Amino acid sequence: MVVGSKINSVMVLAGGVGAARFLRGLALVHDQRATTALVNTGDDTVLHGLNISPDIDTVIYTLSEAIDPQRGWGLSNETWRAMESLKRYVDVRPTGSIAAPEWFNLGDQDLATHFYRTARKSEGADASQITSEIARAWKVAQRIVPMTNNVVATFVELAQDCQAGKAGEQISFQEYFVKYQHSVAVRAIYFQGAETAKPNCIDELSRAEVIVIAPSNPIVSIGPIRALTGIDEVLVANRERVVAISPIIGGHALKGPADRMLTELGHESSALGIARLYKSIASTLIIDSVDADLKDAIEREGLRCIVTNTVMSDLKVAGQLAQTTLDSVVR
Ligand code: GDP
Ligand code: CA
Repeated sequence: MVVGSKINSVMVLAGGVGAARFLRGLALVHDQRATTALVNTGDDTVLHGLNISPDIDTVIYTLSEAIDPQRGWGLSNETWRAMESLKRYVDVRPTGSIAAPEWFNLGDQDLATHFYRTARKSEGADASQITSEIARAWKVAQRIVPMTNNVVATFVELAQDCQAGKAGEQISFQEYFVKYQHSVAVRAIYFQGAETAKPNCIDELSRAEVIVIAPSNPIVSIGPIRALTGIDEVLVANRERVVAISPIIGGHALKGPADRMLTELGHESSALGIARLYKSIASTLIIDSVDADLKDAIEREGLRCIVTNTVMSDLKVAGQLAQTTLDSVVR
């Protein structure tokens, strides 16, 4: 345990990049073995017959400093020979076949992770076990846990006729995010399988001394976790110990579709919009300094509001943000 820190267990509800950066900062100021990240798996997909868990891998690669910092996903010093070799098969692929998909890039080194996950799954290992093995292989000391061991799949409903399909049709999250580069308007989100899936770590969540909602996409990263039966109830019951960090800064997402998605689904794309989404489950919202003028409005929503630098462009800021987050609950 780091000197000065009085708390034991910290649970972080996590999506991909924003959460990974936060967890890296948290590792500087809190005992890593007393930290659990409960990670979104609604983005999971199967390609080439391989099980891929983008948010889990982003978290693990970031914590082991192997992530490509420019891309924000995948491994640094990556090569793409397998993807290039796939081109050979595209012309012989029968109409309707989903073999040899080229729209989702998988690096050569990264493939090893998906090979391992898929092989262990076929041996009967569950997602928690496999994730802990992968985290151990990357020497990650924080506990990384998929939100559930069951399959939950995020789908988006198209708001209008577009290249991705007709208005009202549903496409998978990865098609939306990667294939169509989140450039198509959506009007609803579905988390298939969420009602029957059993959440992981629900007891630990209710016992955690601090619960952090990481700065992740509130709709498609935190949304799937909240959709699992019992999670919101635990958060509501422990609201005093729940602190959220706004992923929206100056009205915008740093990257990705969170801002547009909020607007398309009828929310406000601002730290105040985030406050309204989280006010029933969190007692504190940490917002960026550029949004300082929203503090009063957020407090009128019934949340404590802390204003600080939340753009984790370097490790120092991430560490400071993690400390501020812990201090906001421990008093
Ligand atoms: P993904 O799963 O990798 O797409 O990403 P996330 O679930 O982490 O969500 C992306 C959101 O995280 C966007 O709204 C970003 O603005 C936010 N985000 C990413 N990095 C940071 C950061 O350093 N600080 C804050 N406050 N938000 C961030
Ligand atoms: Ca994600």
